[in-house]
Amino acid sequence: MQECIFCKIINREIPADIVYEDDHILAFKDIQPAAPIHLLFIPKKHIPTFFDLEPEDSHIIGDLQRAAATVAREMGLKERGFRLVSNCMKDAGQLVFHMHYHFLAGRPLQWPPG
Ligand code: 5GP
Ligand code: ZN
Repeated sequence: MQECIFCKIINREIPADIVYEDDHILAFKDIQPAAPIHLLFIPKKHIPTFFDLEPEDSHIIGDLQRAAATVAREMGLKERGFRLVSNCMKDAGQLVFHMHYHFLAGRPLQWPPG
């Protein structure tokens, strides 16, 4: 997926402020932060949306959520917490078609979102 911006970040073809990496997952700072802490957690496998998840991808989603908790703990967010959200397709406002979770923290967050 040469044209995918997140695959390019994974392959170090474009720079990103990476905060976490393991065999299956990468996390980096969002270029346009919507909160004091705004990270993106992505699978290293190019999966465009939730609709493209295969049964063998299930562990990636679990690993990704545990990675978010690990990073949150490291950032001292155990008490204040964080939000993990994913936009799927048009109505949700998905712009990058390499699935990802937004990790938002560092201020009280409104619910429900707009
Ligand atoms: P979506 O709307 O698809 O859920 O969110 C895509 C997110 O990716 C946006 O918050 C946007 O700021 C972020 N983003 C887009 N291009 C880049 C980039 O090249 N680098 C980084 N770090 N974030 C990006
Ligand atoms: Zn990709």
